[in-house]
Amino acid sequence: MTTPQNHSFTTQIVHADRLGGAEQGAIHKPIHTSVQYGYEKVEDLIAVFQGTAKGGFNYARQGTPTTAALEAKITQMERGHGSIVFSTGMAGICAVFLTLLKAGDHLVASQFVFGNTNSVFGTLADLGIEVTTVDVTDAANVAAALRPNTRMVFVETIANPGTQIPDLEGIGALCQQRGVLYVVDNTVASPYLFRAATVGAGLVVNSLTKSIGGQGDALGGVITDTGLYDWSGYPNIFAAYRKGDAKGWGLQQLRKKGLRDMGGTLSSHAAHQLALGAETLSLRMDRTSATALALAQWLEAHPAVSRVLYPMLPSHPQHAFARKHLKAGSWLLSFELRNPDQCLAVCNRLQLPIKATGLADTRTLIIPVAHTIFWEAGSAVRATMGIADSMIRLSVGLEEVEDLLADFEQALAGA
Ligand SMILES: *Cc1c(COP(=O)(O)O)cnc(C)c1O
Repeated sequence: MTTPQNHSFTTQIVHADRLGGAEQGAIHKPIHTSVQYGYEKVEDLIAVFQGTAKGGFNYARQGTPTTAALEAKITQMERGHGSIVFSTGMAGICAVFLTLLKAGDHLVASQFVFGNTNSVFGTLADLGIEVTTVDVTDAANVAAALRPNTRMVFVETIANPGTQIPDLEGIGALCQQRGVLYVVDNTVASPYLFRAATVGAGLVVNSLTKSIGGQGDALGGVITDTGLYDWSGYPNIFAAYRKGDAKGWGLQQLRKKGLRDMGGTLSSHAAHQLALGAETLSLRMDRTSATALALAQWLEAHPAVSRVLYPMLPSHPQHAFARKHLKAGSWLLSFELRNPDQCLAVCNRLQLPIKATGLADTRTLIIPVAHTIFWEAGSAVRATMGIADSMIRLSVGLEEVEDLLADFEQALAGA
């Protein structure tokens, strides 16, 4: 019998539950709602607590068979060492920072990150963790920011909303050379378009709410250990977790501190919904990427549009990297108008795109960036992130491309 690893991306996902050990013949992983897990012999319970049992559950705050099945699927997608799911992407990101960094440590991060992640940097600074944000499109800026106490470098593969792509390979080589943990938020690209392990990432973060879940109906997050980072050299692993194979140390600490202690746990119900979404990840990414590219090309040729930000356009600053490493450009597309005063009117004239925040829903979503998601950040931060006052962000959905093009045609006619 062939192993799931021999199959391609979507084949693996849709057969993972069955091949992972079907319960009662169920071809979907059942939704396990039990909080407590009981054992015939107390020795078996002790083995779960002491980590000597393979697998095993004790209390659902640290996971259930349903969340474990989703973790296994994500690990397979990333071809990693293991994964932990969280209640939201932000819970996963905070677990990475708060369980692996401590006061006196230094974090180098991209200046082009999700707004809420940027807000967490302020919290870290208050806790005594220094954060330096740099333009990560050039690895030299990261190299210049590294200090003896730098523990981690954090970047996003395709930054939201500006679509900047870091020098992912250069930063990976640098981190490996210096023994620094390289964390890549791969939410927009998803493991279908890009595997961060190929550029040397030690940990990969995905908001399951976005590409992987893809229906806009459940929140979730996941951290995957690629198996590339040598945890035996990481100074912040607690003595209790420095046991057994060092490959498991990072995830062990993340699960014990991030889930057991901090409690950002994903429910089995949400895990089931996200797992259903994950089955169609490749279909949705292919479809939305093709539509987004067509829309990007059309917008770039329109006289009312001054700039279009999309990795698969030759005008994109990191187009060469995108062509080489990304399977497609994703659903994320931003553009700016020649006349900034038309920004809100154009949004209002559009009939199909829904005026809402959020990303990677099946419906196209649209939002004026400076007025909403980056309002709190202020104009100085917006300037460093390359966010113009007229920037409009699109999350392209599953609608037919001709319907979207016709809608944009009428909406931009008067602009
Ligand atoms: C949405 C998002 C997050 C946070 O995910 P939630 O599931 O909404 O908490 C993190 N990173 C990026 C790049 C995102 O787009």
